Amino acid sequence: ATPMSIMAATGRGAQAGVLIRDAEALEGFARVDTLIVDKTGTLTIGKPELVAVVPEGAHDEDEVLRLAASLERGSEHPLAEAIVKGAEARGLELAKAEDFEAATGKGVSGRVEGRAVALGNAKMLSDLGIAAPTDDADARRDQGETVMFVVVDGAVAGLVSVADPVKETSADALKALHELGLRIIMATGDNARTARAIAGRLGIDDIRADVSPEDKATIVAELKREGRTVAMAGDGVNDAPALAAADVGIAMGTGADVAIESAGLTLVKGDLNGIVRARRLSLATMANIR
Ligand code: ADP
Ligand code: MG
Repeated sequence: ATPMSIMAATGRGAQAGVLIRDAEALEGFARVDTLIVDKTGTLTIGKPELVAVVPEGAHDEDEVLRLAASLERGSEHPLAEAIVKGAEARGLELAKAEDFEAATGKGVSGRVEGRAVALGNAKMLSDLGIAAPTDDADARRDQGETVMFVVVDGAVAGLVSVADPVKETSADALKALHELGLRIIMATGDNARTARAIAGRLGIDDIRADVSPEDKATIVAELKREGRTVAMAGDGVNDAPALAAADVGIAMGTGADVAIESAGLTLVKGDLNGIVRARRLSLATMANIR
């Protein structure tokens, strides 16, 4: 495309809430055939809310939540915020956590009131040598909830479950993107059952779940090796490596700074309609010069 047509497209993009970094991003997006989308914060609102606390055995529901929330005060993860807010809404008094540690893509651990507390997914439990109970957890995941286990002094004390609604615009935007020639893949650090439940509501059939931030970048690299031209859309710190590895990285403007820095396209409003606009704009710009 000519510098003039690129400038014009960049201006129109900005007006529509799509920030285009350079000619490469604009031209590259017309060639993309595969779009990978992160789940949390990209397809979903990204503000999970606590929906259930299920104690194990003789444990007390509020006590399980109180210990979990006391620990999560040290985490900046959206899941942590949901748990802390949920505990505060119940009027629970949180304690100070010591020896706090976050395990990326797994959960958090530390000491609360002298007790060893850990909170996270099945990988977290497996690291602790504990088997994850599945019955309650799977039923909730099948509803699209994200389940985290609470471990106190080496044994599972219960689970906490959060839900993050799908953005109102996601389903229609995905349909439009499909019609604009893109194959859609969902990539998420979340559990496979939860991912399947959310994907099902959106008509996505290609899902990569339980993936680490590095895995997301590896998925991008593998698809490129297979000859695909790949865009990756995400909002989080954990998406930054994949955004950088993609032919075109797409950041939600509402997301982390490092995601935006790694992106060729930034969506100011943070919903997928921005990707639809960007695709139309880049196809139109490229059509004009041929
Ligand atoms: P996503 O790709 O959905 O943003 P992450 O890679 O950040 O996911 O996390 C993957 C999983 O690790 C979460 O679904 C959760 O089960 C667990 N996890 C990560 N951080 C925390 C935390 N602070 N507290 C509890 N669980 C966590
Ligand atoms: Mg995300």
